[in-house]
Amino acid sequence: AKKHHHDNFEYYAPEIEERTTWQLNMIRRLRNDFADRKLQLWFQPQIDLTSEQVVGVESLLRWPDEEGGFIPPTVFIPLAEYSGLIVDIGQWVVEESCRRIQSLNQGGYPGLRVAVNISMPQFRDRYFVQKIKQALTRFECPPAQLELEITESVVMDEPQIVIDALTSLKQFGVAIAIDDFGTGFSSMSYLQRLPLDRLKVDRSFVNDIQPGKSAVIAETIVSLGIKLGLCTIAEGVERPDQAEYMKQLGCMEAQGYLYAKPMPFDELTAYLESHTG
Ligand code: C2E
Ligand code: CA
Ligand code: CA
Ligand code: CA
Repeated sequence: AKKHHHDNFEYYAPEIEERTTWQLNMIRRLRNDFADRKLQLWFQPQIDLTSEQVVGVESLLRWPDEEGGFIPPTVFIPLAEYSGLIVDIGQWVVEESCRRIQSLNQGGYPGLRVAVNISMPQFRDRYFVQKIKQALTRFECPPAQLELEITESVVMDEPQIVIDALTSLKQFGVAIAIDDFGTGFSSMSYLQRLPLDRLKVDRSFVNDIQPGKSAVIAETIVSLGIKLGLCTIAEGVERPDQAEYMKQLGCMEAQGYLYAKPMPFDELTAYLESHTG
C-alpha cells in the first residue's frame, strides 16, 4: 500500500532492516566458520631495502567463501569488531603467528619478525597483555619476533588503555608498529608517548610516487621516522621505481606485490627457500 510520496522513515526502514539482516547473517557465518577452524592466516613478506633479504612477514586473515574465493578482510573485520568476535579471532591470529615463528625458527629460517594487526576491542580485553605473553612463552618465541600493528584510530580511540598495554608488552620485548601511518587524525601528539619501533608508510602515499616526481608526504613520513629513531617500512610497493625512491629517502624496508602477495604458510616456506641467501 504505497502513497504519493515517501516519508523518510517508511522509505529507509526496509533498507536498514535488510542491511542489518545481512550483517547478522554474516556475523553468524563468521562465528560458525571460526569455530569450525575455517579461517586461514596468510603471510606477506617484508624486505630489507639494503640487503634485499626477507626480514619479516605480516599475518593477514583469510575467510574462504562458498565459491572458492575469499570474503575480503575489509568486509568482515568491521563485522568481527562490531560483534566482539575479533577478540577471540585476534587471539587466534596471535597464537597461530607464534606457532609459525616457532616452526620457522626450528625449520631453518630463524629470527624472522611476524607482524599481527590488533583491533581496539582486543585492548579492552583485560587479559590481552597476559594472553600475548602466554602465547609467546607457550611457543618459545623470542618476544622481539612478534610485532603488533596498531592503526592511528586505535590509539586515538582510548589512548591510555592502548599506551598502558603497549608499554607493558614493549617491556616484555614485543615490537610495535603504527600501521597506515599518515591516514589517521592528529597522531602526532601520541607518537612520543607510544613505545614504537616502526612506522608503516600507508600505501596511498607510496602509490603517489611517480617516476621523476617527488612524493612529499612519503618523504615527510620517512624523515619524521628517522628523526624519531624509528624504522620505516613502505606498504603497497608495486614497482621498482617506488622501492628505489623510498630507499633513497632512507626508508629501510618494503612490503608489496613487487616482492610477493600474501600467501599460505606452505607457500611462504617455499618462497623463503628460493629467496634467502
Ligand atoms: P593492512 O593491515 O593495511 O594490510 C595490508 C593490505 O594491503 C592487505 O590487504 C594486503 O594484501 C594489501 N597489499 C599488500 N601489498 C599490496 C600492494 O602492493 N598493492 C595493493 N594494492 N595492496 C597490497 P588485506 O589482506 O585484504 O587486508 C586488508 C585489511 O584487513 C588489513 O589492512 C587490515 O587492516 C585488516 N586485517 C587483515 N588481517 C587482519 C587481522 O588479523 N586482524 C585485524 N584486526 N585486521 C586485519
Ligand atoms: Ca597491517
Ligand atoms: Ca597497512
Ligand atoms: Ca590499510
